[in-house]
Amino acid sequence: MSSAIPSISHSAAPVVRVPPPMAMLAELTHRCPLACPYCSNPVGLTPGDEELSTEEWIGVFSQAADLGVLHLHLSGGEPAARRDLVELTRAAVSLGLYTNLITSGVGLTEARINDLAGAGLDHVQLSIQGVSPEGADRIAGYRGGYERKMAVANWVAATGIPLTVNAVCHRQNMGEIDGMIELAIRLGARRIEVATVQFHGWAERNKAALLPTREQVERATRTVAAAREKYQGVLVVDYVPADYYSKYPKACMGGWGRVGLNVTPSGRVLPCHAAETIPSLTFQTVREGTLSEIWYESDAFNAYRGDAWMPEPCRSCERKHIDFGGCRCQAMALAGDARATDPVCIRSPLRERLTRETNQLSATPSATLHYRGR
Ligand code: SF4
Ligand code: SF4
Repeated sequence: MSSAIPSISHSAAPVVRVPPPMAMLAELTHRCPLACPYCSNPVGLTPGDEELSTEEWIGVFSQAADLGVLHLHLSGGEPAARRDLVELTRAAVSLGLYTNLITSGVGLTEARINDLAGAGLDHVQLSIQGVSPEGADRIAGYRGGYERKMAVANWVAATGIPLTVNAVCHRQNMGEIDGMIELAIRLGARRIEVATVQFHGWAERNKAALLPTREQVERATRTVAAAREKYQGVLVVDYVPADYYSKYPKACMGGWGRVGLNVTPSGRVLPCHAAETIPSLTFQTVREGTLSEIWYESDAFNAYRGDAWMPEPCRSCERKHIDFGGCRCQAMALAGDARATDPVCIRSPLRERLTRETNQLSATPSATLHYRGR
């Protein structure tokens, strides 16, 4: 009911009414044994000794539940790197949160998965990097990772916890989408998310090696469409298409500060994982304010709510409540201005330049992968 939706005010914008967040992504740690060159963690990783304690995380989960969050994504880095993962999961479940573990699988044992099941974990998302051990381990920068993932998928299946497979696709594995979909079925997954790499964090550094060609992207789209038909009722195939070859941008995060929030390992609260790339914004931590204060009242969360902040052509565009002007972090990265129309949009004055640069880069790829730090 609209009367239950608090109003927030912002110095530069009129009052915008927002509902509570539906989902929270808890980046429990940035530590990870893998070194994926497309990792969405920031290039400046949070060291382990700056992470929130067990008690602090449970306090954040409790605030989230009170605020109205329904879905809690336990992520990282590799969340299994936290020794208290089972304890955190149990606490979140007891607060009534739906818990989804987003994992590379490395660091999970059969016993630990059984403990997570016992704690009430609702869902597992397991990443894969390719269909062959050699290829997948090369991309992940971790020998033996593929075999471990296969074992983890079997252990998860044995508990009955529903499994989704996450496959980040890019120039070096885009020809394997068919195989990854078949692999997901063999692993007993109910869903696969085929997500084309987005150029934030470490992926930005690896753009020349990861940017797919237009032909690859078109083939991927056809492959996904065929798989959806072929495996209807067996596997749900979600697809995140390539930004740089799209006509319009995505509704990034369902709109800035509209649907969900991220909490970093040190407790900084962000509207999305890449938001710290916008230098004009200051983000508070859970040690500085409550989740409710940050969600409803902070300048950073209010900066791009509503449409008063939008420049033209977004301001008078009929799609502004569909894509919200695209991704603010992508606008920052490509236009140098977080308020700009996302340069992916065909109505952006920068679209032609982006197309030229994309064609040039995809025609002169680099084979070198710069791996994520550990
Ligand atoms: S993308 Fe790769 S390196 Fe980054 S957290 Fe996930 S598994 Fe680790
Ligand atoms: S002009 Fe703005 S609102 Fe319209 S489609 Fe492009 S990005 Fe979306």
